[in-house]
Amino acid sequence: MAMSLNWSGELTPKAQKVIDRRRDKSKFLHTVTWAHDGMYDINADKIYVVNLTTHTCSCRVWQVSGLSSSHAIAAVDHRHEDVTNYCGVYFTVQMYHRAYSHPFNPMPYVLELPEITYTTVTPPAARRTAGQPKKYCGKQSTKRLGLLSVVDAGLWAITERHVN
Ligand SMILES: [Zn+2]
Repeated sequence: MAMSLNWSGELTPKAQKVIDRRRDKSKFLHTVTWAHDGMYDINADKIYVVNLTTHTCSCRVWQVSGLSSSHAIAAVDHRHEDVTNYCGVYFTVQMYHRAYSHPFNPMPYVLELPEITYTTVTPPAARRTAGQPKKYCGKQSTKRLGLLSVVDAGLWAITERHVN
């Protein structure tokens, strides 16, 4: 935490390193074509679609990592904007300081924790509920499914019919 107080950039150093690497890649490979609104076609090894409004790229690196993909950086640079505005807020130094602003209590080593004994949990005893029909023990009967009624909505209701 104390070391982070010396961070001068807006993004954490690790996030900035990722962005720098992706920017280097974006400089030489991409041709940027504006489509409309915040949407761009980026022509690299194939055509990627970047949407700066929804923070998405068809390569899906941006959605998965939270940091702009090289295609998105190419589009942002084309607009002469700051790429940090298109990175997840959790990669900023400000959020890092907020996350670690509360003290963490020390934890004992796992072997020093009190022993926990496990008991086998058994299901509750089965009980017949009220209204449950007794098993039919008389003559053998066969059941057939038949269409007997029409519900108001026009759906067919399937009901059971006993045939002796
Ligand atoms: Zn991409």
